[in-house]
Amino acid sequence: MKGHFPIDKFSSLRTPFYYYDTEVLRNTLNCIRAEVARYENFVVHYAVKANVNPKVLTIIRENGLGADCVSGGEIQAAIKAGFPANKIVFAGVGKADWEINLGLDYNIFCFNVESVPELEVINELAAERGKIANVAFRINPDVGAHTHANITTGLAENKFGISMQDMEHVIELAAEMQHVNFVGLHFHIGSQILDMGDFVALCNRINELQEKLDARGIRIEHINVGGGLGIDYHHPNRQSIPDFSAYFKTYATHLKLRAYQKLHFELGRAVVGQCGSLIARVLYVKQGTNKQFAILDAGMTDLIRPALYQAYHKIENISSEASVETYDVVGPVCESSDVFGKSVDLNGVKRGDFLALRSAGAYGEIMASQYNCRTLPQGYLSDEFM
Ligand SMILES: *Cc1c(COP(=O)(O)O)cnc(C)c1O
Repeated sequence: MKGHFPIDKFSSLRTPFYYYDTEVLRNTLNCIRAEVARYENFVVHYAVKANVNPKVLTIIRENGLGADCVSGGEIQAAIKAGFPANKIVFAGVGKADWEINLGLDYNIFCFNVESVPELEVINELAAERGKIANVAFRINPDVGAHTHANITTGLAENKFGISMQDMEHVIELAAEMQHVNFVGLHFHIGSQILDMGDFVALCNRINELQEKLDARGIRIEHINVGGGLGIDYHHPNRQSIPDFSAYFKTYATHLKLRAYQKLHFELGRAVVGQCGSLIARVLYVKQGTNKQFAILDAGMTDLIRPALYQAYHKIENISSEASVETYDVVGPVCESSDVFGKSVDLNGVKRGDFLALRSAGAYGEIMASQYNCRTLPQGYLSDEFM
């Protein structure tokens, strides 16, 4: 048995499917709770977009995290999983009217606003409903993150947020509006960040902005630093829980939080990434000219990260102890980018073997598509196999 997969129970299931190890998920959540408990005013939300499997969401909600949503559909999924509306925050550059109305109707905790036109629309829609919406402004801190270019979000060139130069003007605008209540600032610099120095840079930038606002007597109740903490894709067993201790400590050390302020986090990948694996079967082993291919029944439609971000997922043959050989591991989809890994060392592969693509709990199942008229993968929790 490798990575504790109950493969005898897998044979009756349609592959590919996602397998979530609830013990890993629960240990991760316990660790987050223990680390956060050291700091009085830290609040953690789960970034729902990483994984909305209802059973996964329920476990996260049971552990007391709030929900960070980026669409109306995610708000509905969070509510359905039992997250209290007053623990839901709603971000995104392009909120449609119906999505804003949904948030207003549920009285969610806060809208993370990304532009002046959006602020105006929230104010109008709230007025129609006779409500006052809490708003935080997402500020683009122009801080780079040492991660893949497609998942850095806090640079001036990215589409996200309000520029620092506009920040004070926008806060003044909000103060004049009757149906919005300015409560805080929001930031998010990117994803899969392992260099704590990137978060330190964000803290320094927030400290500067706070000094500016203090000088003008503007009070900020909530600071939300987004998510972005990365996971160890190369060692899913050795490091199944990210270093939350170092992460929270970085903020506690470097961010000058006022006594009355709350610091919010929105973690996605770090919460669910390591608990999930994509389980596929080998359809064919094909000899190429200079290499051999393991052709799986899972493809980029089931797990797009390798094709989209050149992401690495550790691949294991969980059916075999045969001596190691080298394979290009590919999917069946008619795209040359439908490759999970090149020159991958695997225990000798034969037709019908189960392969596990590890660390696939975040941005895996939720990004699946039906391209090539393929069926969406199911998700199962390890609890269901007991
Ligand atoms: C995606 C996203 C997150 C979560 O990012 P992770 O890297 O998965 O932690 C948090 N906040 C916002 C605004 C996001 O868009």
